[in-house]
Amino acid sequence: MTDWTTRLLHPSAGPEEGFESLVTPVFRGSTTVFPSAAAISDDWRHEAGYTYGLRGTPTTRELALRVAELEHGLRTFITPGGHAAITLINLAFLSAGDHVLLPDSVYGPNRRLAEDVPTRFGVEVEFYPPLAGAQIEELIRPATRLVWCESPGSVTMELQDVPAIAAAAHRHGALVALDNTYSAGVYFDAFAHGVDVTMQALTKYVGGHSDLLLGSVTVRTPQAYERVGAMHDQLGMGASPDDCSFALRGLSTLGVRLAALQQSTLQVARWLATQPAVATVLHPALPSCPGHDTWRRDFSGSTSVFSIVLPEGTPREAVIAFIDALRLFRVGYSWGGVHSLAVPWFDLTRNHGTPRAGPIVRFNVGLEDPDDLIADLDQALSSAGLTQP
Ligand SMILES: *Cc1c(COP(=O)(O)O)cnc(C)c1O
Repeated sequence: MTDWTTRLLHPSAGPEEGFESLVTPVFRGSTTVFPSAAAISDDWRHEAGYTYGLRGTPTTRELALRVAELEHGLRTFITPGGHAAITLINLAFLSAGDHVLLPDSVYGPNRRLAEDVPTRFGVEVEFYPPLAGAQIEELIRPATRLVWCESPGSVTMELQDVPAIAAAAHRHGALVALDNTYSAGVYFDAFAHGVDVTMQALTKYVGGHSDLLLGSVTVRTPQAYERVGAMHDQLGMGASPDDCSFALRGLSTLGVRLAALQQSTLQVARWLATQPAVATVLHPALPSCPGHDTWRRDFSGSTSVFSIVLPEGTPREAVIAFIDALRLFRVGYSWGGVHSLAVPWFDLTRNHGTPRAGPIVRFNVGLEDPDDLIADLDQALSSAGLTQP
C-alpha cells in the first residue's frame, strides 16, 4: 500500500462514467497523457489527436471546429486574441524579400505591426487604397506574397471589392488574408469570395460579452493548414480553455444577438443620418458608406459598429462634450459586446482615405433599447451644441 500522499496523485477513485451534458466542459491541462510509451507523439496536427496542452484540449478544439464550420473553412486555429491571429498570419506566410499589401483602412494595430516586425525582417510593406478593387493589380509585383483585406475597414468603414482583389492577387500567385471580424465570420462568406485565409477577433461577436480575449485563423487549403499550423505551434500560441468555453457559450446565442444588434444599429444609424450636425454616417447598409454597393452584393447582414463624421471645423472640445454627455454609451475600445460604446478620432490619418470633413465618432450599439439610445444621442448632441450643420 502506498502512502496517502502518493495516493493523492494516483487515486483509485475517479469521475463516475455516464455523464452527458449539452455543453463541452472546460478541459484544462498542460500535459496530455499517452496510453503507452510507444504512443508518444509530438505532432501539432489536429488529426494526430491531443499531444500537448498548448496545441489544444477538447474545449479549445471544439471551438476551433465550430469556427471552421461557421466560416466554411478547412481548419481553424485558436489564438490568444484577434491581434495574435494577425501576427500568426504574417509570420506564417511572409519571408525576407516578400512584399505585402495592406489596405489603408486596416485595423490600427495591424498597421503598426506591419510597419515594424516584417519590415525589420526584410519584408516590404505597402498600403493601398481600400477601394482599389481590380486596380490593385497595378501594385502587385513578382515579390507580392500576401494581400490583406479588411471589409469594412476599421473606423472609416470602406467596403472592399474582395472578389476583384482576390482575382488579381491569384493571377500573380499572391494569397489573400481577410480580417473578417466585422461579419462575425457569417455575414460575409470569405472563402466563397476568393479569400485564402481569414482571421477574427473572437473577442468581439463570438465572445459577445466583453469578458474574454480570443482570436481565430481559418484556412481553406491543406497547404495553408500546414503553414499556419506549424507557425501556431512554433509560436506557442495557446489559448485558455476557460476563455474558449465562454466563446462556445457565446456561439450558442450569436444568431439572436447579431439579429438584434443589426436591427438596433440600423435604427440608431438612420436616426443619426437625419441630424443636421452629422455630416456623414459610415454604416455599410447606408448608401453614404464608401463601397455600399459592394456590401449589398457580397454581405448578408450588417452588425453593430459604425461611425459618424462631424462637420469640418467641429472643435475637439465639442466632440468631447458630446461623448461625455452620453449616459448610455460608455467610452472605450473594442466592440461586439452587449454595451453601447463611443470612441472619438480627432485627426485620423489615412494616406488614401476617402474624403472626410471633420472628426469621427465610432459607435458600438449594444442590447439597450434603441429608442433609449436615440434619446441619449439626442440630448448629448444638444448639450454639446451640435445641432447645426
Ligand atoms: C479588435 C480587433 C482585432 C484584435 O482583436 P483582439 O482580440 O482585441 O486582439 C483585430 N481586428 C479588428 C478589426 C478588430 O476590431
